[in-house]
Parts: sequence; C-alpha cells; structure tokens
Amino acid sequence: GEFSVHYQPQVDARGNRIVGAEALARWQHPQLGAQSPTEFIKVLEDSGLILEVGTWILDEACGAFAQLIADGLVDPLNFSLCVNISPRQFRQNDFVERVEHSLKQHGLPFSLLKLEITEGIVIQNLEDTIAKMHQLTAMGVSFAMDDFGTGYSSLTHLKRLPVDTLKIDQSFVRDAINDPNDAEIIRAIVAMAHSLQLKVVAEGVERQQQLQFLQSLECHIYQGYLHSRPV
Ligand code: C2E
Ligand code: CA
Ligand code: CA
Repeated sequence: GEFSVHYQPQVDARGNRIVGAEALARWQHPQLGAQSPTEFIKVLEDSGLILEVGTWILDEACGAFAQLIADGLVDPLNFSLCVNISPRQFRQNDFVERVEHSLKQHGLPFSLLKLEITEGIVIQNLEDTIAKMHQLTAMGVSFAMDDFGTGYSSLTHLKRLPVDTLKIDQSFVRDAINDPNDAEIIRAIVAMAHSLQLKVVAEGVERQQQLQFLQSLECHIYQGYLHSRPV
C-alpha cells in the first residue's frame, strides 16, 4: 500500500483546456520518504516486479478515470489517459489481454487509453512490438513515443510503428530558450511530426517563454509545472 498514482494534466494552450493526463507512479516509503520514480522503476524493471506493479498502475489509473467520468468531470471521448509502459511489461505474453481486461473491467472506451513507450521497447524486439501495437490499435488504444529525440530515434522504426503522438523530451524544452541547438532540435521534431501527421506534446514546460516558443512552432499541447505538477 505504499505505491500511489499521480496524474499530470496535458493542456491545449489554445484555450488552456485539459485534454489528457499522464499517470505517474509514486512510492512513499514509511522511513525513507518519497522515492524517485526513475530509480525505483528501474529496480522494478530489473527485478521483474514491474509486471505486477505495472498491471496495478494501469488498473488504478483506469479505476480513477472511470470515477472521474462517472462524476462528469472528464469527457471520455475527448481525453487521453496516458500510461507509461516499460520494456519488460510490453514483452509479457499476455500484455494485450491485460490492457483489454483493465479497460473492460472499468467500462472505459478503448480510445481513452494512450500507452507511452520508449525507443528501448522497439529495439529489443521489433516484430513482436509491432504485432502487439497493431492488436491494441485495432481495439482503439493509441501510442505515444516518449522522450523523443533522446534515444535511438530511428526514422525507419517511426515509420513502421503505429504511434500517433511524439513527446518532445524535457531536456530540449528546458534549454530551448537559451540554447539554439535545442531550439533547432525542437523545430525539427515538430516539423517532422506535422509532416508525418503525428500529434506532438511538449514535456517539462516550466516557463511562459518556453510555451511561447513552442506555440510559435504550432506545438500547442504541453505538460509541465507551468500549468501543474503531477497531482
Ligand atoms: P517520464 O515518462 O518522462 O515522465 C515525465 C517526468 O517529468 C515525470 O517525472 C514528471 O513528474 C516530470 N515533470 C513533469 N513536468 C515537469 C516540469 O515542468 N519540470 C520538470 N523538471 N519535470 C517535470 P517522474 O514522475 O519523476 O517520473 C520519472 C520517470 O519515471 C518517468 O519519466 C517514467 O520514465 C518513469 N515512470 C514514472 N511512472 C511510471 C510508471 O507508472 N510506469 C513506468 N514504466 N515508468 C514510470
Ligand atoms: Ca512518459
Ligand atoms: Ca518523457
């Protein structure tokens, strides 16, 4: 009972409307206090415990949104509930069934769910990954490529994978105002996303200036402390 899930809003800056939320795991240790997700997720991944915990996180997030929908606070047909999926989770044989089970159990439309994957997932087993992604997209689930630009970023993979969203990594957003190289990388990612007809979400937006820069490139959807921390 020490794990919990927080949610960070995704905002459309044109009108300041919340269009989605990312589920983020939290671990409050009774003696050591709040633990860094980056660190404990890695331990869960390396030990294999991520399979159990990841299933719990997905289920918890689906339950929370079923409640928000029941309370009339979220429009289920115009919202993305984004859940991070680690490589090992994605590789488990019954991953597709587990996702299906969580959504059905809570009576959620499949289109509500967007799974955030990283390039690490893709590299480990391309054919299996593509097959599972196709099964899930056929049901209505969508995919975002997380931390885009930091990993292997193979354009060949991007072309083959049914992702509909790119998430610009926060390391680029952080320095976009001061570092012309980071600004150019963002410009290139947004231009590529637009020409491939992908949606693009910027992460880690903390300052109004960063948002203005992103909006000047027609990137309007963002997550970051500027609007809200994970809550
Ligand atoms: P991520 O998927 O890239 O998540 C975004 C991280 O950026 C989160 O860190 C979030 O709290 C943080 N963030 C959001 N807005 C801002 C901002 O304006 N400024 C700054 N400096 N940071 C911001 P968090 O929650 O510490 O999570 C770290 C990483 O741990 C995540 O990176 C993700 O890779 C992993 N993680 C978290 N929850 C889960 C989960 O449920 N499953 C899996 N597989 N991984 C998770
Ligand atoms: Ca993420
Ligand atoms: Ca990210």
